[in-house]
Amino acid sequence: MDALFPTYSRWDVTVNSAQGTKLIDVNGKEYLDFVSGIAVCNLGHRHEAVQKAIKEQLDKYWHVSNLFHQEIQQDVAKTLVENSSGDAVFFCNSGAEANEAAIKLARKFTGKSKILTFNQSFHGRTFATMTATGQEKVHSGFGPLLQEFKYLPYNDEETLETAMDDQVAAVLLEIVQGEGGVIPAKASFLKKAEELCKQFGALLIIDEVQTGIGRTGKPFAYQHFGISPDIITSAKGLGSGMPVGAMIGKKKLIEAFGPGSHGSTFGGNPIALAAAKATLGIIFDDSFLSEVTQKGEYLINHLKAELASVKVVKEVRGCGLMTGIVCDSDVSDIITNLREKGLLALVAGPTVIRLLPPLTVTKEELDEAVKVIKNTMIEKETMQTV
Ligand code: PLP
Repeated sequence: MDALFPTYSRWDVTVNSAQGTKLIDVNGKEYLDFVSGIAVCNLGHRHEAVQKAIKEQLDKYWHVSNLFHQEIQQDVAKTLVENSSGDAVFFCNSGAEANEAAIKLARKFTGKSKILTFNQSFHGRTFATMTATGQEKVHSGFGPLLQEFKYLPYNDEETLETAMDDQVAAVLLEIVQGEGGVIPAKASFLKKAEELCKQFGALLIIDEVQTGIGRTGKPFAYQHFGISPDIITSAKGLGSGMPVGAMIGKKKLIEAFGPGSHGSTFGGNPIALAAAKATLGIIFDDSFLSEVTQKGEYLINHLKAELASVKVVKEVRGCGLMTGIVCDSDVSDIITNLREKGLLALVAGPTVIRLLPPLTVTKEELDEAVKVIKNTMIEKETMQTV
């Protein structure tokens, strides 16, 4: 008997081990992992430096609660604020919790309740973050949702300007909508969002849960655009697979999150933070990040060239190593075919093949993935025409 709630449609793969970009199942089959635990294992599986840091922390202490000062929390928080527009960090355990904290803080700080988010966004599965998510299928059956959330078309400055008023506590958005279909924001849209937030006394919250921690070639993706968000949320890649989330906010917000206002038993767990410290030590480095940019450009250009003749492919887009192959219909079958051929990729959208390789991926592995994708798509096209 399966003793798990069937909340996930699982693939027909049972994992045995993983190292770097490789994942091996219980039958010994090897996969090239372009999923990375859904943008989590940004340094590949079981990176040596992260493993060492976790082991060292295991030998010190595992958990003491947030009643104590912990140097490791200060260390990671310092790195996050030094590499963002924020000044203080609240640690939690997931992306949803980071966004939940951001929404609560925005309401408490502004004394207002309206939250503007965008169609096809994804912000999590808790009540506030599910409500913030602009996808009906995520809401279905869970109503009534929280009040005062409004969904707007993404990348549309005009409707944002019309929707903005004195009652808005925050505008919450992703720089590249991940689950929604790898849809990058326009620079003018982000500038407008920042400008309107300033004008109406609202907070600009950037959800960097998927785009952050080097994924797009910057510590955080908003840094491509010269904006200065009030709150940045992070998780996924932050702990290289150890569960950790962070909400990073500006100085003006610190008083609104005083003692007793918010909390988490496990938030800031020292083992997860040892992983985060080692992860950031490698990723938040200019030469590492510029390699991510180069590899991302290489992958996009290579895909564009190799898939130019494949009719179902409409566009290849993305930022850094967050890449989407936009097709003209549902790509679930293609994802299954890729997996059978040993390449792990994700659906987004649902007509987009989403590639999230580890940031440590090699050029040879990128070439191999493009070859498998091209062959699979051409094979499928040929089968459909006979
Ligand atoms: N925000 C974004 C942009 C995400 O992609 C996700 C997860 O996919 C979340 C929030 C939720 O993160 P978690 O699953 O860690 O709660």
